[in-house]
Amino acid sequence: MLFHDNSFAAALRTAVLALAALALAVFILIPGLAGLAAGTFSGISVLSAGPFIPGSIPAGGDGGYIRWVDFNVPQNALEQAFRWDVDTVQSEIHIDWVDLLACLGARYGGDFSNYRQAEMDELADRLKNGEIMEDIAAGLKYYSYYREAYGAVLDGLLGQYETEIAAEDAPDFALPTDENGNPVRDGEKVWVTKYGLKAFSPIASGFPYSEYDDFGVSRSYGYRRQHLGHDMMGQVGTPIIAVESGRVEALGWNQYGGWRIGIRSFDGKRYYYYAHLRKNYPYQSNLEVGSIVSAGDVIGYMGRTGYSATENTNNIDEPHLHFGIQLIFDESQKEGNGEIWINCYELVKFLSLHRSEVHKVEGTKEWERTYEIRDPAEEEYLRDPAGESGGSA
Ligand SMILES: [Zn+2]
Repeated sequence: MLFHDNSFAAALRTAVLALAALALAVFILIPGLAGLAAGTFSGISVLSAGPFIPGSIPAGGDGGYIRWVDFNVPQNALEQAFRWDVDTVQSEIHIDWVDLLACLGARYGGDFSNYRQAEMDELADRLKNGEIMEDIAAGLKYYSYYREAYGAVLDGLLGQYETEIAAEDAPDFALPTDENGNPVRDGEKVWVTKYGLKAFSPIASGFPYSEYDDFGVSRSYGYRRQHLGHDMMGQVGTPIIAVESGRVEALGWNQYGGWRIGIRSFDGKRYYYYAHLRKNYPYQSNLEVGSIVSAGDVIGYMGRTGYSATENTNNIDEPHLHFGIQLIFDESQKEGNGEIWINCYELVKFLSLHRSEVHKVEGTKEWERTYEIRDPAEEEYLRDPAGESGGSA
């Protein structure tokens, strides 16, 4: 089997982290910068407008919604586009990472095997020099498709948010000041506002795992089918992390996934599926269907349950997290033949730049996150929880 040893990745990550502290996010100096984060490209949505109710996207009516997405954007392209976005957030012209990737996707017909960073940089330079994407993409018939398809995968992952950080890592301007206006660095943590990657790796920081690109390989339990997700092999009990903030839509036993949890993003477009959780103690005890989770929260524990009609059965040989991302453009695609599951291997490698730090809760079997975040998407949802009447299986 082709398991990579992840230790080289761990070494690389250590090297990258120092860089990431600088470049993974930028501290926002100006309060109330919410308007900056959007960067959406207008005139491309094929869904009819109207208020979204989480868990129940209204049917398109005319059938004008995306039916299929192959997500083949490699880690390096994700990271390079992401850096353009973050590096220009406080510039006059903010370059949206998904715009860059969608334009390249339209050029390549979705196949990034010949992707070159120089091509992305050239595109970004044109935008920086004042050209607009509508003109650049004018000859690209499928730009709007790729913008909507890639946006459905990526739009919720990057943005402005508040997070706790260790006081020792905080820039002076983020610290409280004494009567002379000098920064005081005596607390353990401080809140800062950042613009950057809001999403996290599904595996908590400090817990080793191995992985390889296993999307689409065949599976035979139950019936012959394709593997519609990504497996991350590790130890039983490894804390599993919510990749994006959202609402718990499914929690319980499933013959294939064993103890599993399904979380829908607040915009309704992404359904995150975390399966084969630990026997006897699969989930964080505060969770039930309808719970709201924040990106980076501990939601459960790695295990090897599943492949049985009998609840709480360990029938998977090697402990692993099965992680899946389903895209939903129309609620009819949630269950059945219209389901769109994307290959998330490259995306998960990209997300490994951002792993949630956790600590053991004394006297329990649980771990919890060390640094809280405040996600504007969650606050917006909590102000107007229109999803109360929605919900699906
Ligand atoms: Zn799997």
